[in-house]
Amino acid sequence: MSINKIAVFCNSVPDEILLAAGLVSEKIEDISLNHDISNKYLASNLCSYSKNALDYLSENKENYDGMIFTNTCHAMEVLYEICREIFEDKFVYIIDVPRNRKDNSVNYFYKVLTDFVKSIEAYFKVKISEDDLEKAYLKINEMNKLRTDMDNILSDEKYYVQSVYQQRIQKEYEKMNIQQYRRLYEEILERKKKYKNEVRIMLCGSNLAPLKIADCLEEIGGEIVLYDFTQGSRRYSRTNTYKNIDIIEIISINYLNKPYGTMTSDLKLRAKQVIENIKKYNIQLVFLSVIKFCSDEVFFSALLTKYLAKNNIPYLILNTEYTEKCSGQLLTRVEAMLETMS
Ligand code: SF4
Repeated sequence: MSINKIAVFCNSVPDEILLAAGLVSEKIEDISLNHDISNKYLASNLCSYSKNALDYLSENKENYDGMIFTNTCHAMEVLYEICREIFEDKFVYIIDVPRNRKDNSVNYFYKVLTDFVKSIEAYFKVKISEDDLEKAYLKINEMNKLRTDMDNILSDEKYYVQSVYQQRIQKEYEKMNIQQYRRLYEEILERKKKYKNEVRIMLCGSNLAPLKIADCLEEIGGEIVLYDFTQGSRRYSRTNTYKNIDIIEIISINYLNKPYGTMTSDLKLRAKQVIENIKKYNIQLVFLSVIKFCSDEVFFSALLTKYLAKNNIPYLILNTEYTEKCSGQLLTRVEAMLETMS
């Protein structure tokens, strides 16, 4: 039986429902070098992540049976419209995720997800039973638990784990099955070393843009303790279990109770959550990544920097394209910042 692969872009697409339908999701984050398609369809002031995603999907369309978006930001809504037009033989869908956590948000999201289930059933000609949903829910929960355990090791003050493992967790999670994930967990447990006296850093902001920066930081005396990206570990931070209620309702509650991200309408709560984590994990320096033309992160970074300054936490804003390269110029700024800390 062939497994249908679905491209996703955001951490609010419920993996449980896809899994219950026999679908596999893959987050699009590959770097595309050829911009012919995105230059043709997208305005020049859309973020480079959305452009790269369109180029990547065009070059690899045969690998995906569908694309599922959320209304995270203007760029994602535009990308959804374009994909609907150019990939008309695929399942192209957008999920309307509430931006706040008011009492009626769960009811609204419940209806949205119920419609989503029906659309998947109709398009892929499958029936998603309560039993399928429960099995999928428990399996995803097990993955989330492992992921949370790994995050806890990474942020343990007594040890450090080389950035290569942190990057693998961030980047390869989607592609791993649970056995591979358990092996990586064991490997990390073995490889953790005694704490090195380095500057404890949080990488925060939009997407996974400058992941290679982790290597650069480690080389010049920093230790990345926490990732707080819009699409980072936030996706997996939901391992609640509720008994005796509908699984779709559980999923709606869990997704709306994840740590605050780009979608939240209350940026102050998101900023306060970052500050709480900084204190909890004893972070000494914050690198705030803002992908060019990502207006949501520009607004958020303007607010967050006020909170950081008020709490005397040093920070550096890295305004970058969505690229893995840690450019010479960027590295010079990062080095200079670390020098001021030592
Ligand atoms: S980087 Fe910003 S603008 Fe681009 S898709 Fe992500 S949230 Fe949207």
